[in-house]
Amino acid sequence: MTTAALDQAFVLSSYGRNSTSFVEGKGAKLYDEKGKEYIDFASGIGVSSVGHGNPILTEAICTQAKALIHTSNLQVIAPQAELAERIVTLSGYDMRCFFGNSGAEANEAAIKIVRKYGETHFEKKRYKVITLEHSFHGRTITTVKATGQDSFHSPNFSPYPDGFSYVDQIDAVYDKIDDETVAVMIELVQGEGGVQPFDKSEIQQLAKTLKARGILLIVDEVQTGVYRTGAFLASQLYGITPDVITLAKGLAGGVPIGVAMTSLKDIFEPGDHGSTFGGNFLSTRAGLAVLEVLEKEEESGALQERIVLFDKHLKSLKERYPAYFDTQVGLGLMLGLRASSSEIQQKVLTAAFEAGVIVLKAGRNTVRFLPPLTITEEEINEGFKRFEKAMAAL
Ligand SMILES: *Cc1c(COP(=O)(O)O)cnc(C)c1O
Repeated sequence: MTTAALDQAFVLSSYGRNSTSFVEGKGAKLYDEKGKEYIDFASGIGVSSVGHGNPILTEAICTQAKALIHTSNLQVIAPQAELAERIVTLSGYDMRCFFGNSGAEANEAAIKIVRKYGETHFEKKRYKVITLEHSFHGRTITTVKATGQDSFHSPNFSPYPDGFSYVDQIDAVYDKIDDETVAVMIELVQGEGGVQPFDKSEIQQLAKTLKARGILLIVDEVQTGVYRTGAFLASQLYGITPDVITLAKGLAGGVPIGVAMTSLKDIFEPGDHGSTFGGNFLSTRAGLAVLEVLEKEEESGALQERIVLFDKHLKSLKERYPAYFDTQVGLGLMLGLRASSSEIQQKVLTAAFEAGVIVLKAGRNTVRFLPPLTITEEEINEGFKRFEKAMAAL
């Protein structure tokens, strides 16, 4: 049986998949079963932050795997403690971390943190969380309810938990707050929703107002975090101090991990929350290796050079194909071109894949770029050469 046939027979059809199967990767290059080469402008979905086959990451994983992969969270785990220290230090915030295995789990932890705060800090319980339309916070029953997109709230999976409501823009948050509101949860750049960054002054105003009114701010940095926008956290670029921040996608370069970090350092007591796999030796060792690589890329200015080069290519594409692309959106290496329709979006994606460059969908009509943060100049230029070829063939 071919891989595609096995997949069809034995894996549930929850994804709209094409039948390509990759077998190997090096840097920002991927190779499929037939040996065809692709430039990876997607990193999975913003996960392979240090590219494929990165020697520092793979060496760290292999060495750790030989020593110890897993113990329970009932003992202290050295790389977990070290990774928590690195994350908190790089953030500059006074926080502590909880480790899970995915973005949704990180957000579940964040929601439990604010709910416990709402239960224990007020005479009348506060539990409601306000989120934004076009947001994306995960696929568990609770985080999908936190996701402000009706298309995700299929009655097939109802009933959903109470306590979530949505607003269509930041300044509509203020009217939505009532005496049961405990937190507001936002992405600073909406990823799945269309690579849409919020305005810095609007976010600073929000953070200030929430603080004054005693409402917590959760920033979902599952996609924006770990240098994706150019800084370690997008929250740092926006100049705000959230109460809870979540991380996942790029943090361990492809090994499953999720983090909820909070300045409510004593919110949990033993038994309040947990995870069997969360923060084990393998994933946190991988996280340490990824941070070791990316910290240097940022400090040396190499990351910034890639951001500038990527931006230049996207500007030029937008100028040369005005019938296809309306606007350029995004921040750092989290970028998008708004296509003039969802049909154009789909055509561009298919043609690019055919031409050997992988890009992603976001929202209704955005072509999204999430390259490895270590992508080389040669790989960027080659990827755009192939993208041009795809555009010319449309
Ligand atoms: C991907 C994503 C999630 C969900 O992460 P999973 O690891 O798929 O659970 C949550 N929030 C944001 C902003 C994301 O981009």
